[in-house]
Amino acid sequence: IQPKIARKDVTLHILKTFNLHASKKLGQNFLIDEHVVQGIVAAAGAGSGDTILEIGPGIGTLTQGLAEAGSQVVAVELDKRLPDVLAKTLAGYDNVRIIQGDVLRIDISREITVPKYKVVANLPYYITTPIIMKLLEERLPIEVLVTMVQKEVAERMIASPGGKDYGALSVAVQYYTLPEIMFFVPPSSFIPQPAVESAVIRCTVRQQPLVDVQDETRFFRVVKAAFAQRRKTLHNALKAAGLDAPQVNGILNTAGIDGMRRGETLSLAEFAAVANAWTEQEQ
Ligand code: SAM
Repeated sequence: IQPKIARKDVTLHILKTFNLHASKKLGQNFLIDEHVVQGIVAAAGAGSGDTILEIGPGIGTLTQGLAEAGSQVVAVELDKRLPDVLAKTLAGYDNVRIIQGDVLRIDISREITVPKYKVVANLPYYITTPIIMKLLEERLPIEVLVTMVQKEVAERMIASPGGKDYGALSVAVQYYTLPEIMFFVPPSSFIPQPAVESAVIRCTVRQQPLVDVQDETRFFRVVKAAFAQRRKTLHNALKAAGLDAPQVNGILNTAGIDGMRRGETLSLAEFAAVANAWTEQEQ
C-alpha cells in the first residue's frame, strides 16, 4: 500500500527528496488535501471501467486517487523533471502511463484510442482556457471534464446572459457541455498556496451542441464580436465584424433581434439565430 501523496508532510517530503521547487511559471500548486482528491474522483465517477486523461499530474497526487479507483490513467506532464519523480511516487500502480509533453501540442487522439474517456485535472491556471477550448473544439470522444480551475473562471463558465461574468468562454463551454460547479477549494489545500480561491467544475459533454448552428466558425465569430467591445450595441459589434449597415439590418431582421441590445445580453439561442441568419444571407 502506497502512502497518500495528498498530505502536507508527504508532499513536502517528496519535494525535498527530489530537490524540487514548485515552478510558478508552470502553474504548479500541489494538492495536499485528500478530501479534495476524493471529491474530484467522485465528481468524475472514476471507476475501473474508465480511461482518464489527466493533465498535469505534478507529483502524482490526483493520479494516485484515480489509479486507486481502478481507472486507466494517461497523464500528460510538461515539466521534464517530473516523469522520474512520478516513476517513484506511483511505482505501485500498473494502470498509469505518463507522457512528457505539452497538452496543447500533443496529438491526444493518437495517444488515447479508446472510444470514450474522461478528463480529470487540477489545471495550471495560466492556460486553463486554451486547454479547455482545445479539448472541446477538437471534438474528442470525451464524456466529461472534471477540472480544478480558478473560482472566477468557474463562475464565467456557468454564467448566464447579461451579467459581468458572461462572455465568450461561457458561450463556448455551454455550447459543448453542461457545466456545474461541484465545490470550492481554499488556497490552504495546496502547496504552495495559490493567490486565488479555486473550484472544481464538472462539464458533461453534450451529445449534440445546445443550439443548432449551421456554421460554427461564424457562430463563434459573432460571439467574439459581441464580447470584443461589451459596451457596444449588437448592431455596431456586427459592423465591427466586417458587415455593412444594410447587411446587419437584414441579419437582425431575419433573426428577430433588436440591434440596440448589447451583444452580452444574448442567449446561446440568440447568438445561433444571428449566425444562422448571416449564413443564410451569404447563400
Ligand atoms: N495534479 C497535481 C496536483 O493536483 O497536485 C499538480 C497540479 S498543478 C496545479 C498543474 C500541473 O500542470 C503542474 O504539474 C504543471 O507542471 C503541469 N503543466 C503546466 N503546463 C502544462 C502543459 N502545457 N501541459 C501539461 N502539463 C502542464
